[in-house]
Amino acid sequence: MRIAVASGKGGTGKTLIATSLALTIAQSEAVVFVDADVEAPNAHFFLKPEFFESTPVTSFAPRIQTEQCNGCGECVEFCAFSALAMVKKKILFFPELCHGCEGCRIVCPKAAIEKDQSMKGSIERGRTRSGIDFRRGVLTIGEPRSPVVINALKKGLSQNQNQVVIIDCPPGTGCALMAAVEDADYCLLVTEPTPFGFSDLKMAVAALEELHIPFGVIINKQGLNGNKTEVYCREKGIEILGRIPYQRSIGERYARGLTLIDGDNSFADELRAVFNRIKIKGVKP
Ligand code: SF4
Ligand code: SF4
Repeated sequence: MRIAVASGKGGTGKTLIATSLALTIAQSEAVVFVDADVEAPNAHFFLKPEFFESTPVTSFAPRIQTEQCNGCGECVEFCAFSALAMVKKKILFFPELCHGCEGCRIVCPKAAIEKDQSMKGSIERGRTRSGIDFRRGVLTIGEPRSPVVINALKKGLSQNQNQVVIIDCPPGTGCALMAAVEDADYCLLVTEPTPFGFSDLKMAVAALEELHIPFGVIINKQGLNGNKTEVYCREKGIEILGRIPYQRSIGERYARGLTLIDGDNSFADELRAVFNRIKIKGVKP
């Protein structure tokens, strides 16, 4: 079963909930934890895995053989991403715009485009002391296309339904979230009762409805700022699976790299109840 943990907005406590939930479930089931927040992966601070493997993620990039190129411009015309341009019969390549589709190489009538590789990031694997199979994607600094790494990260996952896969998604509601969440059985949306949190929650809800993925909400920092989120969820028929109070002690524990259940069992029962509820709601017909 794949459970995505997402939030429209960064800083809601998504990773805190994802890691705490993973540790709770790992007490009784096999867990794979996937840190798909590839621009700023930080779940390792909480789960503290020992890494043992790192695999580079690359994608195709064109290398123009200028001596073979006749300046016909077919590659430029083909490229839908404007990653190629021609100036005075010379091809210019803009790597940050390239999507690695390889189409330019295929359409070139002179076989003047060779395969090159562009480094997008890496996939790292480790294991935690509690036996969690930990995986994370790390995007190359400056690389704008995080879905390439997220897709590579998810490709390596098995379809074993007896395993619980927790995917810590990137914040926001853009392509990166879509890549992380698209084949999840259930999505847990972590939100906070602030104006930004509320606004971004609504966008995340719209995205999940579009993808037809069942979801529920956990309200973190409950009590911070009114009950607008509660009212919204009630009116939309969205299940609130849990509430984490706005407490200084939780913030202090977070800053020390401790999850909600490290040395404190007060949230373990609540998180177990969340998982049991997800198991019921996330089963596909
Ligand atoms: S690989 Fe695709 S996106 Fe990249 S330059 Fe060629 S046609 Fe454009
Ligand atoms: S399609 Fe091939 S030959 Fe034509 S401009 Fe591009 S690289 Fe040169």
